Amino acid sequence: MARAIQDLSDLLSRLPGVGKRTATRLAFHLLKAKEDYARALGESISTLHERVRRCSTCANISDTDPCHICQDPGRDQRVVCVVESVPDLWAIEAAGTYRGAFHVLHGLLKPLDGIGPDDLNLDLLRERVISGEVQEVILATRPSVEGEATALLVRQLLEGTGAAMSRIASGIPHGSELEYTDARTLERALTDRREMK
Ligand SMILES: [Zn+2]
Repeated sequence: MARAIQDLSDLLSRLPGVGKRTATRLAFHLLKAKEDYARALGESISTLHERVRRCSTCANISDTDPCHICQDPGRDQRVVCVVESVPDLWAIEAAGTYRGAFHVLHGLLKPLDGIGPDDLNLDLLRERVISGEVQEVILATRPSVEGEATALLVRQLLEGTGAAMSRIASGIPHGSELEYTDARTLERALTDRREMK
């Protein structure tokens, strides 16, 4: 195989869900496609990191810092919904009824994989809650062992800050990702959230 195809296919095969055969097929597809497309794709990938920022308030991924949600005066910045990932934030946004703010952890506690409290974006959250404006924190991590452990950790971390803590209601199947939960179920889980004592 030509070296260029081999290199590209090796890189593509490292993407999630892409096996070696698919990677090779994609590489040949790119070779056959219009050159403009391959160039645009390459540029989009190579400039991704410089074009994307992490919001210094909520850690959302955005074009701007603060992100559009943190900047929005129409949103209740006193309520902060803590999520595992940006796709989870998007899922809640797509459900369309939540009007508070967010905080993205960029992960869940996974001791077996070596992911501990220091690997989650917790300091920023604590600072934000301590600074006083936040009145309620909604733990919207997924219902799984890791999700529950992370929710408990956040609750412990924020103990004594005066913010009310709540957990999204069940209804989301155990272990499933918020990202793939339908809008109505997500909406209900948020509305029916219960206080964490
Ligand atoms: Zn933000």
